[in-house]
Amino acid sequence: MARQTYREENGKWGVKGVSWEEVPDGLYGALYKLRRYEDICEDTQTVEALTCEDDFTSWRLVDPEHNVWQCGHCLTLHQFEADGPEENGFVCCPYCAQFIERTGGEDANEPA
Ligand SMILES: [Zn+2]
Repeated sequence: MARQTYREENGKWGVKGVSWEEVPDGLYGALYKLRRYEDICEDTQTVEALTCEDDFTSWRLVDPEHNVWQCGHCLTLHQFEADGPEENGFVCCPYCAQFIERTGGEDANEPA
């Protein structure tokens, strides 16, 4: 995706097609964050590190009776009181820090 922000050699920056006069003061912080985000995304090594497929693991239910799940990467077992990693807000495996792949149908129980 093309950048929405630009930065000039003299350090000035802005949003393409928008002059600062049009931007409400309250939006400055959000645009600054966007620029920072885009700066980071231009650093391809960082992006690769963040999106590397090796960083994903999947958890599977290995003991339905006791609701015990296992990380597919570090093989650690984890017991939940109820539901699975997704419902308990686990984005990463707490043992090996790999991102947990979300399974299908994750929006079914989301509050509107
Ligand atoms: Zn793990």
